[in-house]
Amino acid sequence: MNELPACPQCNSAFTYEDGALLICPECAHEWPADPAFDPDVKVWRDANGTVLADGDTVTVIKDLKVKGSSFVVKVGTRVKNIRLVDGDHDIDCKIDGVGQMGLKTEFVKKA
Ligand SMILES: [Zn+2]
Repeated sequence: MNELPACPQCNSAFTYEDGALLICPECAHEWPADPAFDPDVKVWRDANGTVLADGDTVTVIKDLKVKGSSFVVKVGTRVKNIRLVDGDHDIDCKIDGVGQMGLKTEFVKKA
């Protein structure tokens, strides 16, 4: 009945599935059910679901107020050479006339 692979650590056949993970009840080893899935690798996606990479150019899709100023980053602003970071604002970038700021991936699309 059990078509799940045996535990790679202790070879137990009692592996069970929990969401995206396979779990061994005997040694408590957990590993991704999909071999291509690596939970340690974070993937950044823009508003359309396109994967972003460091150095990409993106376009802002929503007027964004710059915290602590009256400046607004307008829809359509192109942002070059982004840097992806972990955090609430997950894009580090420099915008002409504004300077260094953080953007959210959900408010940009890849240019
Ligand atoms: Zn095991």
